[in-house]
Amino acid sequence: MSDELLYIEDGDGGFAIPCQLKIAEDCVQVGEFCETKEDARHWAEEECWIFSGEWYLCVECNQQIMRNISNLQTKKMN
Ligand SMILES: [Zn+2]
Repeated sequence: MSDELLYIEDGDGGFAIPCQLKIAEDCVQVGEFCETKEDARHWAEEECWIFSGEWYLCVECNQQIMRNISNLQTKKMN
């Protein structure tokens, strides 16, 4: 497990994982603050955030990417 992952601290000993893309209008932006980094990761995984190997993106941004890709494919077909 890498420590390179970005965490946001709440200044009170809590950690949360930020969404690294923030491209969706309804992007969650930041996960829930947890007592430990492991808990913060767990939270992200239970919410089905996508782990790229270096960072997480939220479900909404992942869906936005999928929409962008299918838009591109539709354009190519036309
Ligand atoms: Zn997001």
